[in-house]
Amino acid sequence: MSYDVVVIGTGPGGYVAAIKAAQLGLKVAVVEKRKTFGGTCLNIGCIPSKALLHASEIFAEAGHSFDTLGVEVGTPKLNLEKMRAHKDATVKANVNGVEFLFKKNKIDTFIGTGKVLGVGKVAVTTDEGTVHQLETKNIIIATGSDVAGIPGVDVKFDEKVIVSSTGALDFDKVPGHLVVVGGGVIGLELGSVWARLGAKVTVVEYLDKILGSMDGEVSRQFQRLLEKQGIVFKLSAKVTGVEKTAKGAKVTFTPVAGGEAETIETDVVLVATGRRPFTDGLGLEAAGVVLDERGRVAVNDHWLTSVPGIYAIGDVVKGPMLAHKAEDEGVAVAEIIAGQAGHVNFDVIPSVVYTQPEVASVGKTEEELKAAGIDYKVGKFPFTANGRARAMLHTDGFVKILADKATDRVLGAHILGYNAGEMIHELAVLMEFGGSSEDLARTCHAHPTMSEAVREAALGTFFKPIHI
Ligand SMILES: Cc1cc2nc3c(=O)[nH]c(=O)nc-3n(C[C@H](O)[C@H](O)[C@H](O)COP(=O)(O)OP(=O)(O)OC[C@H]3O[C@@H](n4cnc5c(N)ncnc54)[C@H](O)[C@@H]3O)c2cc1C
Repeated sequence: MSYDVVVIGTGPGGYVAAIKAAQLGLKVAVVEKRKTFGGTCLNIGCIPSKALLHASEIFAEAGHSFDTLGVEVGTPKLNLEKMRAHKDATVKANVNGVEFLFKKNKIDTFIGTGKVLGVGKVAVTTDEGTVHQLETKNIIIATGSDVAGIPGVDVKFDEKVIVSSTGALDFDKVPGHLVVVGGGVIGLELGSVWARLGAKVTVVEYLDKILGSMDGEVSRQFQRLLEKQGIVFKLSAKVTGVEKTAKGAKVTFTPVAGGEAETIETDVVLVATGRRPFTDGLGLEAAGVVLDERGRVAVNDHWLTSVPGIYAIGDVVKGPMLAHKAEDEGVAVAEIIAGQAGHVNFDVIPSVVYTQPEVASVGKTEEELKAAGIDYKVGKFPFTANGRARAMLHTDGFVKILADKATDRVLGAHILGYNAGEMIHELAVLMEFGGSSEDLARTCHAHPTMSEAVREAALGTFFKPIHI
């Protein structure tokens, strides 16, 4: 079996690369070791977590704000089984969608574990032990990432009491107390789901702030809003032990600055300390493919590894571990293989935390601009002063825009607020085109929309906001 491109892994990186390559006229095969396509994102990541986040958000809203809005539904009752069924149906529809797209684009599919045997050679071993030998001009490694543990701590995941994100997407009852180790995106999203459904949630975080790389001002206000929702934070805390007990589990941690150890007895522990690039069993070393110091496949600016004809994209290479980053790399690498000029602008990759309110950002934080010695100006606008936000009872948060002081070019934008993940994109487009805060401030925005707060923040960056 001979191909132009064989893609190993069908997450957002791999399946998008395969479709794009097929659209560009190349003969393509994909190899996937899971029984379904779509990778971490569609099966156990972005999609199931967003189904639970949406359902639990409606549940919480029904309990809090429906009454004020004049919608009397009584005390909302949780049917967790149905909520999980909604999540599973959402996953199924999405993974089936990828299968349909493979067929539509005449992409051959192999279910089994792929191994790189050398330049132009991939072996696929099925669960039954059958081995398919594939010959190809190009290989794309898109094998993604797997759960990372806690450095120096022996964590024994059983996905019931001590769980990774995968277990936390599938509890069959709401835990009484959930301790989340790690105050990053995944920990805060899944912590929010179970807090809204009634669990007591405690987040233990090594850094002195949540969402480590997020703009400091946004992170502080976001933490206060999550605290109002009942989530408890233990910051600057180094976890030294996670163990099962007769009643559940216990988590031990010490202050990072030194001091007495503290132990929390809990029902369930979610370890959400990050993910590691997944290259197990791929045979990369024997094939001469070099990994970097963090175990990621080393690639150049064209996603080419140390071996000609072998490329790598997505979570398994450097850069933010985000589905849309993997997708964009998938498009770019397919274009490069097809002889075109594939490109990804790493300065304009939005990131979103799908909590309530959401946090969305693109470009530089204030801390990064200060560290780079760039002279910048700031414009801010709170949702309390936005009519649409008031009408929807979603006045928490603000928009913050950072622009170069001399040129007015927008360098970063951060939104804490309802639907921030949808609003961030006008800023991403603006930045992609090298736009200024004045460009945005002079763009007519429909009234009443929450996006008017984005325009007002831009007005504030460039001159003065009108409505505050
Ligand atoms: C709970 C959770 C929520 C998330 N939410 C978001 C979100 O909202 N937004 C966002 O942008 N990102 C989110 N992410 C991150 C996102 O899932 C990843 O960034 C994305 O999936 C990376 O895509 P990828 O194609 O590189 O790899 P993956 O999606 O990890 O896919 C890799 C695929 O390769 C397969 N594979 C591995 N080795 C082999 C082999 N040898 N042979 C055959 N197949 C192999 C794997 O089975 C897998 O299907 C989330 C992650 C988690 C865990």
